[in-house]
Amino acid sequence: MLIESFFCVKRDEKEDISSHVAKLQKLFVDLNEELTKHKENTLSERILNGRILSTLGKEFDNFKDIWDTIPSENQKLNLLIEKLCTIELRDQSSTEASAFVASGKRKQFKKDKLGKPKLSMERAKQKFPCNKCKQVGHWAAECPQKKIGGSNYQAKSKNFRAINANK
Ligand SMILES: [Zn+2]
Repeated sequence: MLIESFFCVKRDEKEDISSHVAKLQKLFVDLNEELTKHKENTLSERILNGRILSTLGKEFDNFKDIWDTIPSENQKLNLLIEKLCTIELRDQSSTEASAFVASGKRKQFKKDKLGKPKLSMERAKQKFPCNKCKQVGHWAAECPQKKIGGSNYQAKSKNFRAINANK
């Protein structure tokens, strides 16, 4: 059963790539556990990568071409996930970006491989709030709250005021 679901899984259009990949990954792990139990050969990461790639839509055809140009010893699952998440973030950020993915400008893709794509970092900051002050636009590492006495500063002074008010 597991082997069937692993090889028949299709991507739900509404589902984001990261959850789709996570689902496939889980099936893959479960399946390999089953295979180990029955003393059969387990599936390699390459098969999982292949499944991930083949369940992506047509809009990823260019990405698949680029992926094929990577030497097979470098075609690691982590790299694949990282690339797909980067594309997804970029995709959500603007329609221009999906045009970029669709047209698959190889030069730009290679540039992104070297440095972190700035745009998606900024977008991610807009999407995920700071752990300290829960505001978007920066992350905890660069939180302005840190400079004025740490993460508890606001909470402490609020409590202090509340205590005084009760007196
Ligand atoms: Zn903050």
